[in-house]
Amino acid sequence: MEICIFLGAGASAAENLPIQNELFSNYFKNTLPLHPESNMNIKLREFFKEFFYIDVLNENIDDINFPTFEEVLGILDMAEQRRESFKKFGTDTYNNQNDSINLLKQYLILLTANSINNASKASNKYHELLLSNLLKMNQLLNTTFISVNYDIHIDNTISKLYDKDKMPVMLDYGVDFANFNYKNSTWLKPTGQTIKLYKIHGSLNWLYCPVCSSLTLTPYEGGVMRILNNQDEATCLNCNQYTIPIIVPPTYFKNMSNVYLSSVWNKAEASLRKSDVIIFCGYSFPEADMHIKYMLKRVQTSRNNNPLKIIVFNNHENKLTSALKKEEMRYKRFLGEDIIFTNDSFQDFATNPYKYISIIKNTN
Ligand SMILES: [Zn+2]
Repeated sequence: MEICIFLGAGASAAENLPIQNELFSNYFKNTLPLHPESNMNIKLREFFKEFFYIDVLNENIDDINFPTFEEVLGILDMAEQRRESFKKFGTDTYNNQNDSINLLKQYLILLTANSINNASKASNKYHELLLSNLLKMNQLLNTTFISVNYDIHIDNTISKLYDKDKMPVMLDYGVDFANFNYKNSTWLKPTGQTIKLYKIHGSLNWLYCPVCSSLTLTPYEGGVMRILNNQDEATCLNCNQYTIPIIVPPTYFKNMSNVYLSSVWNKAEASLRKSDVIIFCGYSFPEADMHIKYMLKRVQTSRNNNPLKIIVFNNHENKLTSALKKEEMRYKRFLGEDIIFTNDSFQDFATNPYKYISIIKNTN
């Protein structure tokens, strides 16, 4: 049986990663005070003061009611799209007194990356458990992972499985990295048996070079942090120019035009088409993810063989029943009443995937 495991933010939160609404408070509480006068932090402070009347340096962060990430990036995206400006922040640099909205957006993306990267150092317990259980069931090689997360929990867990003699299985991101061109590279082109991981919103360990259009991988490390901390180490393996992150922020106006990202999306869609089952883990089906809804609907409505089976694990310890019920409605109204919406969590699934996969096998 071919399965696709779709990992959302809740699957990473199970490993103590901040969820979206904690990104700002985490950053302003823990990271900004270390270097309040860096270029990035000066701009971020100005922006929050100017737009939301928040003094992130002097107010008590725990008492602040921050706007959502979507709201912040959404208004900046819209200004860019309409080629309009805000007072003090402009889309065109015809007036040097204005700060650039584009630069601000890049800072906000680096802020996200930083918050996620700092928390990523925690253990990968449930990801490891899931993989080892799928391996025991002989299901791992017929499993594709699709992740909307930038963190590298699942990546590290998969690549650590590799053992030249016992387990020669390599992680395949579905894109070619500049690393493949170098003999002494620690990351080789995947050959033989592979486990596919398609990161449709980008990744903390991908560095894109806008000059030669190549992609450099920083194995086991959120290399995007180098752009923030030591730009000279965040250069392209091929041409030595400075790189930029591929991280698609969680807004309505997602820009998926990057050539590597397009390739990842195509492959993700192809593997969804081949799958018998999609297993959603910690994915809340947000309104802003229209691209994902579009892809799922195309896959679901164009099958020649059996209907696509879908099972959802979206609960967690402190989730209110009413919130879970709302998510169930959201899933069912879009994907149909036949999907299996469990009251269980990603941790429950990781602990006993066999139990749930048997249930799905026995449904029509
Ligand atoms: Zn380059």
